[in-house]
Amino acid sequence: MACDFIEQNRTTCALGGLYTALAIERVLPVLHCGPGCQAQTRGVLGNSNGAQNSFPFMESVIPCSNFEETDVVFGGVEKLRKLLEHSLKAYKADMFIVLSGCTPAIVGDDVEEVIRSFSGGDIPVLYAETAGFHGNNLYGHRQVLTAILKQYLPRQERGETIPGLVNIFGIVPYYDPFWSAELEEIESLLTKIGLKPNIFYGRGKGLAEIQKIPQASFNILLSPWVDLEVVQELEAQYGTPYFHYPALPLGPTETNRFLRELAQYAGLDEPAVEKVIHEGEDLYYYYMNRSLHWIYSCRTLPKHFYVNASASSALPLTRFLVNDLGLLPEKIYLPEGIPEEHRERVEGYFRDLEIADEKRGGFVVDFSEDGGLMAAEIRDIHFEPGTTYIFGSLWDVLFCRGKHLPFLSVSAPQGIHMIGTKHYFGYTGGVNLFSDYYSRLADLGPFGGGSHE
Ligand code: SF4
Repeated sequence: MACDFIEQNRTTCALGGLYTALAIERVLPVLHCGPGCQAQTRGVLGNSNGAQNSFPFMESVIPCSNFEETDVVFGGVEKLRKLLEHSLKAYKADMFIVLSGCTPAIVGDDVEEVIRSFSGGDIPVLYAETAGFHGNNLYGHRQVLTAILKQYLPRQERGETIPGLVNIFGIVPYYDPFWSAELEEIESLLTKIGLKPNIFYGRGKGLAEIQKIPQASFNILLSPWVDLEVVQELEAQYGTPYFHYPALPLGPTETNRFLRELAQYAGLDEPAVEKVIHEGEDLYYYYMNRSLHWIYSCRTLPKHFYVNASASSALPLTRFLVNDLGLLPEKIYLPEGIPEEHRERVEGYFRDLEIADEKRGGFVVDFSEDGGLMAAEIRDIHFEPGTTYIFGSLWDVLFCRGKHLPFLSVSAPQGIHMIGTKHYFGYTGGVNLFSDYYSRLADLGPFGGGSHE
């Protein structure tokens, strides 16, 4: 039975946008909020999401005004001002972004006025309003990016457009547990087809990359809905067009389609792109063929699956499972608070599958924010052993274990095991995903689990 409340949260409050700042090297978030606020973001986006911590600024060194009862009465702006003065002296950062939480917003602290008093200095100090009652960490992510576009980039001259330079949007650092290696793989693939990808999160990526954003020939958006408003803002601000591919390509079918559509959009050398496709397919099928004979001769693989994950994880996964592995979706749960105006379009992306029309419409896409809804709805279903696979997050582990259902964690909070350089993108990502999918199945024994009651 469906719950009428939200449990098993897979997002944090808007303050979780601090991780977007942390993903840009030498950018330091400064928090104006209660002393416990940061800790709730770490549980979903940090240590429980692929054993991540931020780097080079670790979570434990992030300055915070520790907003308390006295500040509720007298306001916290002077405390924030002092905190910024000391932080500017104590930290070697290239940029500071103040993120404010609920209590300063409720008591009416004029944070913008404080930030204005630091304008004109050598180190940029920006401000993002991230009170938790406004939205979740995806809202916070957008607030941080918008702060950079509106408060920092206007200082920069646009300069000449650089041919082939493309900004990559749609991947939310830390929230997507595989973000870092994914971006490195995207950089590698797009470079091979003749583009100059401009990536501003992760290893060695900082303000130098941010400063190049206005010079891009076009932006590439790789998500169903996240960052759509950001690329639209860039189009309005600088006239930069964007290429929107709604699913982060995973496996050969999607990656081939993405590369061909991108090549056509950007007028790339098609024989060179086809060569990259051929090499990618060669890699994918080599590794798959080295295992598939053994796997299919010893085991019946599941035919059906459920997904309980972010839209950015669920969409590539669904397309890969259907288009490349031949599975059928039972129901897709997207508990990340997708705004109403995006839902119809997002659902359409899930139905854009290479299957018969009647099957394409034969499953439900659910937009409830309740992460516990899937377990509540399928708890009493009897699953024949090894027929149905579940994809979700750390929250779903115990439920699947109790039902003897094969399970893979793909979305925040992904779990406490280190992810490292693993990613689910492109041709290599397809092999990685299949390897994890199959390995969890093998862990359950010869029949691949299933309910035995
Ligand atoms: S919802 Fe508000 S009070 Fe709660 S953690 Fe987020 S910013 Fe802090």
